[in-house]
Amino acid sequence: MGKIILTGDRPTGRLHVGHYVGSLRERVALQNQGDYDKIFIMIADAQALTDNAENPQKVRDNIIEVALDYLACGIDPEKSTILIQSMIPELTELTFYYMNLVTVSRLQRNPTVKTEIKMRNFEANIPVGFFTYPISQAADITAFKATHVPAGEDQKPMIEQCREIVHKFNNVYGEALVEPNIVLPKNSACLRLPGIDGKAKMSKSLGNCIYLSDEPEDIKKKIMSMFTDPNHLRIEDPGETENNPVFIYLDAFSKPEHFEEFLPDYANLDELKAHYQRGGLGDVKVKKFLNNVIQTELRPIRERRKEWEQKVPEVYEILKKGCKEAKQVAEKTLYEVREAMKINYFE
Ligand code: ATP
Ligand code: MG
Repeated sequence: MGKIILTGDRPTGRLHVGHYVGSLRERVALQNQGDYDKIFIMIADAQALTDNAENPQKVRDNIIEVALDYLACGIDPEKSTILIQSMIPELTELTFYYMNLVTVSRLQRNPTVKTEIKMRNFEANIPVGFFTYPISQAADITAFKATHVPAGEDQKPMIEQCREIVHKFNNVYGEALVEPNIVLPKNSACLRLPGIDGKAKMSKSLGNCIYLSDEPEDIKKKIMSMFTDPNHLRIEDPGETENNPVFIYLDAFSKPEHFEEFLPDYANLDELKAHYQRGGLGDVKVKKFLNNVIQTELRPIRERRKEWEQKVPEVYEILKKGCKEAKQVAEKTLYEVREAMKINYFE
């Protein structure tokens, strides 16, 4: 059995720097290291429809946006297979069978689903599809026999739930499925990047994002208006760096060479933090530095994106080819699943 990656994003908007540090940057690194036998990257449109059922145009329009963001970040279609979830109907059939292996109360305990239900004000009216999306996610992962899932921290409960489904399936029907492992970012600041408003998670649905495709002026405007330590009123006041999004972003993005280039008075981030903590360092100076850092990181991504934007038909061809490849793999898994479940009557 090889090492296989499955990971993905919902086409509910363009991708933001939270996706980048939480998962995308790691995917590109893993792709380029070449240790994996297969890498599947899924645009999860069927999952996006579970809470956007009345907004199909939004989901449709964002397929290409997400694909462009992938290519801009360095996902290479020669090395990774990009697929669109709904184009692989086998995933839906797997979901239907896995539903028998999960209880309602187990789904209700999933902490990410709980938070997301609150965030969307779904408390009284949860669409069944949304409530069960962790099961469909287990189908996505297992259809490709993924061993590794690079994702942000919010995905931990999903992978746990997937492992339980695999365990139960293999116990009841015989070993057909593979238990996946989550690959979290090593840098703890990247596990769950906060929003520019200081909210716990940068999220397309919350509108508190710096997008990978933002123009330089917009990035600057967003950074200069960022939430910081509310008790750091005057420059001489001591400030907090722990829960301060500006410093969390620096933790996630800054490299030693950024200090050399943009802030040579400080050797590294620890020195900058120490100065902020003892007082005497203003927010504007730190934000200007953060702006330089993020601009440096996003410039090549934005430029590559603009090149791909000129070749949209080619991008659709890449997606079409990816879906075809992925479908073959999912068909094979479904065949094995049906066999294990004894529902292959005419074989
Ligand atoms: P939505 O609000 O529509 O759910 P989202 O911004 O949460 O969108 P997803 O498509 O749900 O994005 O997540 C895709 C991947 O990016 C997942 O692996 C998730 O863990 C990761 N991710 C999303 N937001 C962040 C974040 N703020 N920090 C770190 N990782 C993140
Ligand atoms: Mg999400």
